[in-house]
Amino acid sequence: MKKILIVEDEDSIREFIVINLERAGYKVVEADSGEQGLKKYEETKDFDLAILDVTLPGINGFTVCKKLRAQNGLMGIIMLSARSQEMDKVNGLMLGADDYITKPFSPSELVARIDSLYRRVALAETRNENNLREEISDGDFTLNLRNRTLLKNGRLIELTQVEFQIMEFFLSNPGVVLDRTKILAHVWGTSYIGEEKIVDVNIRRLRMKVEDSPSMPKHIVTIWGLGYKWEA
Ligand code: CA
Repeated sequence: MKKILIVEDEDSIREFIVINLERAGYKVVEADSGEQGLKKYEETKDFDLAILDVTLPGINGFTVCKKLRAQNGLMGIIMLSARSQEMDKVNGLMLGADDYITKPFSPSELVARIDSLYRRVALAETRNENNLREEISDGDFTLNLRNRTLLKNGRLIELTQVEFQIMEFFLSNPGVVLDRTKILAHVWGTSYIGEEKIVDVNIRRLRMKVEDSPSMPKHIVTIWGLGYKWEA
């Protein structure tokens, strides 16, 4: 069962989301505040996805995102924002969200974004169970495909689902230039209808985690006009 947590204080928007996602086959649990959302999460902890509105009474959606991500690296998290300011989106993504949707949105856009994220989470869950190839190593880095962790010189680096998939793509193609379109298609799926910018935001976040000096990246190298290249 595809299970999703919705945290949104505006009744009409929450109901709109619930109706459309139930119709798309999701089991939906609702909360009208961040505190209630965290409580509902704690009750079962078996969620595949969460949709978090940014502006909430009490603690805001960013805080909820951070707290959920600290407990669950596998769950897909989408931020919902009424504001279209870039900072909001970047903030959410830096705190561990996988995607964002700006209000107002259509039912088809909502379901497409949620489905696309769900497919990634489900794929990750299957891989966890199947235990295919155990790990990929390159230089100081070891990516464990089973428990989805990254080690740099034996030091653990926490990754979100998206970051993990990008790292897996890089480490499977060392020294190869991967353009944004290719990364987007590989990680988000070819049916993804968001912006390519999301690739750059995730790369920026990854660099903060894997680079000694994120402003002078040596591992995730920008190839101007082409894309990115992994160098161990
Ligand atoms: Ca709100």
